[in-house]
Amino acid sequence: MSSRASDLLTLTREGLYCPLGDFHVDPTWPVPRAVITHGHADHARAGHGSVLATPETLRIMAVRYGADFCDTRQEAVLGQSMRIGGVGVRFAPAGHVLGSAQVAIEREGARIVVSGDYKRAPDPTCLPFEVVPCDVFITEATFGLPVFTHPDTRGEVRKLLDSVRLFPERAHIVGAYALGKAQRVMALLREEGWDRPIHLHGAMEKLTELYKQEGIPLGDTPKVAAAERKDLHGAIVLCPPSAMQDLWSRKFPDPVTCFASGWMRVRARARQKGVELPLVISDHSDWPDLCRTIRDIGAGEVWVTHGQEDALVHWCGTQGIAAKPLHLLGYGDDGEAEPVADPAADPAEAAA
Ligand SMILES: [Zn+2]
Ligand SMILES: [Zn+2]
Repeated sequence: MSSRASDLLTLTREGLYCPLGDFHVDPTWPVPRAVITHGHADHARAGHGSVLATPETLRIMAVRYGADFCDTRQEAVLGQSMRIGGVGVRFAPAGHVLGSAQVAIEREGARIVVSGDYKRAPDPTCLPFEVVPCDVFITEATFGLPVFTHPDTRGEVRKLLDSVRLFPERAHIVGAYALGKAQRVMALLREEGWDRPIHLHGAMEKLTELYKQEGIPLGDTPKVAAAERKDLHGAIVLCPPSAMQDLWSRKFPDPVTCFASGWMRVRARARQKGVELPLVISDHSDWPDLCRTIRDIGAGEVWVTHGQEDALVHWCGTQGIAAKPLHLLGYGDDGEAEPVADPAADPAEAAA
């Protein structure tokens, strides 16, 4: 009997499950065997029996959860197919954060691809997204509405540097997610010629150190000492989004609050978060790139895991591609993919 790609994965309480290989992909609960696409906490959780992931993702998990985050682990080599039970499994770069990968599962010429989170925009901190032709493509839709178009990141970083030049006596506090976004902002700042130190909140130190060990040059990134905060005139300081509104960020000289996120495209959201300088820098695909990717891959069927699923499913229909929303719970916790409370309100504002 020939295989159908759509039979290679089913949905269980824990998430996507491959019965023929007896493993889950990015499960949201502890399982005996997990295949992990990338290190963001909503995809990579602690407590699985075995974990198969790229070496970078395994190291990220060890930094976040401790060396004993699972019982046994196996490194996946990008591009190399391996046999798990009755299926072949191959990892391909996803362009999302360091170590991020898509997982292709195949049997008898039928192939399904779980992309995890991905983007097509250039990122100096990770390998670019690879188009893997398949029968069923599983995609996210964090920014799955036509109003979401991300600008060139270089222009966003220049806005930050212009502001630093304009207000040399003020500290610029940039909120950015600790895995991926923060290091990408640092790398982009270096590309634009910022050669002074980039000061870090303590919560970003370990992952930034890991990026450097993986060979990504980020320059001098000292941790901010409590005593020196008031003296950091004209400095660029990166901190997790959660630290932006608290006392920590207010101790800097006349701080300019900045925030690096795809959601900064929505002006109401920037205002609501008290962000003075929104920087539209996203590690997720915008609407044109979601559509372009689905076209490039040429899959006959698309499953949408989370985000603005309905609009993307509808668009697939207009292209003659079968599509369905999976409504996966537990995803969207990577600091950017936060759920929109009122989907109708935000895009309207963004379109204004
Ligand atoms: Zn992610
Ligand atoms: Zn995610």
